[in-house]
Amino acid sequence: MTDRTSSTLEKQTEVGSYFVATYPPFSAWTAAAVEQDGKVALETPPVPGVPLGLYLHIPFCRKRCHFCYFRVYTDKNAQEVNDYLDVLAREWELCAAKPAIAGRPLNFVYFGGGTPSFLSTKQLEGLVGRMSALTPWKDAEEVTFECEPGTLTEAKLAAIRGIGVTRLSLGVENFDDQILELNGRAHRSPEIGRAYAFARSLDFPQINIDLIAGMLGETDENWQRCIERTLELSPDSVTIYQMELPYNTTISGNLLKGTGKFAQPADWPTKRRWVREGFEALEAAGYYVRSAYTAVKNPERTRFIYTDRLWQGADMVGLGVASFGHVNGVHIQNLDTWETYSEAVRQGNVPLSRAYRPTDEERFIREFILQLKLGSIAPAYFRDKYRVNVLERFRDQLDSLKAEGYLQTATDKVVALTRDGLLRVDGLLTRFFLPQHAGIRYT
Ligand code: SF4
Repeated sequence: MTDRTSSTLEKQTEVGSYFVATYPPFSAWTAAAVEQDGKVALETPPVPGVPLGLYLHIPFCRKRCHFCYFRVYTDKNAQEVNDYLDVLAREWELCAAKPAIAGRPLNFVYFGGGTPSFLSTKQLEGLVGRMSALTPWKDAEEVTFECEPGTLTEAKLAAIRGIGVTRLSLGVENFDDQILELNGRAHRSPEIGRAYAFARSLDFPQINIDLIAGMLGETDENWQRCIERTLELSPDSVTIYQMELPYNTTISGNLLKGTGKFAQPADWPTKRRWVREGFEALEAAGYYVRSAYTAVKNPERTRFIYTDRLWQGADMVGLGVASFGHVNGVHIQNLDTWETYSEAVRQGNVPLSRAYRPTDEERFIREFILQLKLGSIAPAYFRDKYRVNVLERFRDQLDSLKAEGYLQTATDKVVALTRDGLLRVDGLLTRFFLPQHAGIRYT
């Protein structure tokens, strides 16, 4: 490979995973560990003081976006959706009876997907009524609900507010109708404005807008308009992801087969520049960059408990097909087909497909790399919790980050990335992996 080819490859948006969601990589989790570790973790009482969260996977969408890599269904009728919700509630009954979960208050709840707002008001209230009868979540610090703007009516938003949602996340992604169409999104720009106005009138404590830098068809001019439009709406927080191409997206499949149906998305330097410009515009408007993906208007008031807790090792039960969780120090994932998942729950079994029990060292690395996504970490946290001096443990890695211009400082008080480092943080994290995980497939 020539130097020119290798640098082109480094810049291009290649097919494959980029985003680091946890550690060790998912490909290290095994079916064999379900009995040995996953189920044992659920049967073990919790470590006192560890917060508990709940993730509900609602795997329905009106259309499948061409860049989507989640387990979602676009062909289920109302009865099938009702059946799924029934299984979800049943799964919670099974989990909530386990020694690891029983009697614990929920610190945070996250409705993700898929599209939670795909559910009708009746379906949503029915599900929440059943689940909260078992475990009330009125004292949860945060209840997040992901929405697709085109699925929202004023009445549905009022119901979402009524079930206790504190953080409403609008999957806007882009404000241009042609780009939304080109990428297979179901909603269009007029629906964004309507949904946002309804949501504001209902006084949600936090409204977040999601954008994606580098959707097919994106241009400099349009991206500027997206940022301007976002600022006009003035949400409490803005999350900007960089478009990536994991293997199971429609775009990836077509690119790998060479069908010519989709153009190559923008390269990484362009996407990073767009995020940088977005963050700079938000900062100029008074926002504060709190992580590699998110800017918030008021850091005192606007937090994101879900990531804060998970990145500090909280427990979380993930309900639904293919959902991920973390209980008593063990990673777990549910069965990933509709049939196997539903069948297992109907038979009264917790529907796990694979698990992994990280060693103490792996748990330390997991928290370190996830917290690095905030842009800085406090060495004292790792000294107190894991008895590890991160400056010594990661001396080589930190030196290499410094040499490449991605490390701003590394002292006893703080290890902080530069803005350049923050914008490419997921690409930097593998250097902290143990050797046995460095070269393996991530998912
Ligand atoms: S709305 Fe989200 S979950 Fe649904 S298809 Fe699009 S990217 Fe996937």
